[in-house]
Amino acid sequence: SIKNLDHYFGHGQLRKQVLFDINLDINAGEIIIMTGPSGSGKTTLLTMAGGLRSAQFGSLQVLGRELCKASAKQLTLARRNNGYIFQAHNLHGSLTALQNVRMGLELQPNISPQEMKTRSAAMLELVGLGNRLNYYPDDLSGGQKQRVAIARALVNHPKIVLADEPTAALDSKSGRDVVNLMQTLAKEQGCTILLVTHDNRILDIADHIVYMEDGKLADAPAAVAAG
Ligand code: ATP
Repeated sequence: SIKNLDHYFGHGQLRKQVLFDINLDINAGEIIIMTGPSGSGKTTLLTMAGGLRSAQFGSLQVLGRELCKASAKQLTLARRNNGYIFQAHNLHGSLTALQNVRMGLELQPNISPQEMKTRSAAMLELVGLGNRLNYYPDDLSGGQKQRVAIARALVNHPKIVLADEPTAALDSKSGRDVVNLMQTLAKEQGCTILLVTHDNRILDIADHIVYMEDGKLADAPAAVAAG
């Protein structure tokens, strides 16, 4: 639940407002796509909702926790409920697919190393990479790497999945496969998805499309609204 949210970057003469009076309510289990021109503030809002940065003015409540002016500790606690998927998949090149997915469990308390391994392998199986557990990212295709990133994001059964341009580096077939997979797994696990994209081809998976322009929520152009 986002109310009257404003955010500024920089200080002194370089201080610049990047979010203006954002109001938005998202229900559990929904898929929300944020789209709009470059620099309009989508990623800034996504990182705040995900507890990666604190909002400055107004209110941003996630699962009942206030994340505006939140302390580092409060943000860390909020992040435990989340899974993240980024454009460049951000896998560690020196770790295998299995080890990368295992990292998605590191913030969770009380999980034994064996359970981490078992859950990570099961998750890779679920995204169709059961036969690639010990492959390094360099030996996987773009679509496969993004599947590893999805497995890492979902392995801790997050309540919220935050995805920033998850299909940007993929051809249209791989991009479609990846969003279908995200949609299916998220629905199965009952999690909410907040996804930022410029990719008009995937708008149809959204329950709601949020259009941002110049740091404000705006009415979507007809082509976007039509999905
Ligand atoms: P894109 O689609 O290109 O990723 P976006 O809509 O996600 O853009 P943001 O990345 O949220 O937009 O950026 C919003 C504004 O905030 C831009 O003017 C950007 O230059 C500025 N900005 C983002 N991060 C910072 C930062 N760490 N310090 C200063 N300004 C920033």
